[in-house]
Amino acid sequence: QARTDRSVVWVGSGGREVPVGPGTFTLIAGPCAVESAAQTLGAARLAAGAGATLLRGGAYKPRTFPGVFQGLGKDALRILADVREATGLYVVTEVIDPADVDLVASYADMLQIGATNMQNYALLDSVGRQNKPILLKRGLQASVDEWLMAAEYVAQRGNCEIVLCERGIRTFETATSATLDLAAIPLVQRLSHLPVVVDPTHAAGRRDLIVPLARAAIAAGADGLLIDVHPDPENALVDGAQALAGAELRELASAVRQLPPML
Ligand code: PEP
Repeated sequence: QARTDRSVVWVGSGGREVPVGPGTFTLIAGPCAVESAAQTLGAARLAAGAGATLLRGGAYKPRTFPGVFQGLGKDALRILADVREATGLYVVTEVIDPADVDLVASYADMLQIGATNMQNYALLDSVGRQNKPILLKRGLQASVDEWLMAAEYVAQRGNCEIVLCERGIRTFETATSATLDLAAIPLVQRLSHLPVVVDPTHAAGRRDLIVPLARAAIAAGADGLLIDVHPDPENALVDGAQALAGAELRELASAVRQLPPML
């Protein structure tokens, strides 16, 4: 059984906070990377149309290959803040350097720790001292225990507003970017009081598998989903092959609307 003391984490401010946790379901969606104001606004409108209440968007992109687009940095943070103003969606964005945590926290409503930084203890320490909720992604090679200990690092610095995000782990399978660990959803809900959302986008790495994985995550009891959307995936600067738009996004929205009655 899931623990009965599971927490709700609230994102945003001003009386319009968005809950993440038991008793609700939260869709976090937006572009993998902020590329321009128009692209981010377009993605945010698509996300809101699909039922998202939180906007994701990367300002700092830690890419596997060093020669490619690494994000617009502070310019992207400004764009995200403008799009929040225009749409009412609160902003979730990744921080990759402890030196940038104050800056990112001054724009974002929720700070994302990416899979590659799950055990970056200087970064965990730094976000643990912030007064903003944290989205902590599971590392590609992290066991559930290691993931929960990373959350504990943040909590021990004083910030207990943590949402865990299962985004797939590395296995022998190379047909997908990572292998979505569905068992981790109910397992973490038994071991921890923290909400757990699922990112099928970065697990699948390909658009056609995202909705089926999202449905599986919902059925396994996820507290929400994190999904990449892009107004023009074919021309995306980052990971267009896994961004939803059009028919797949409508399917995703309908999967979220038909949540099982257990909620
Ligand atoms: C992302 O969400 O933008 C991302 C890069 O995901 P991950 O850290 O899970 O690879």
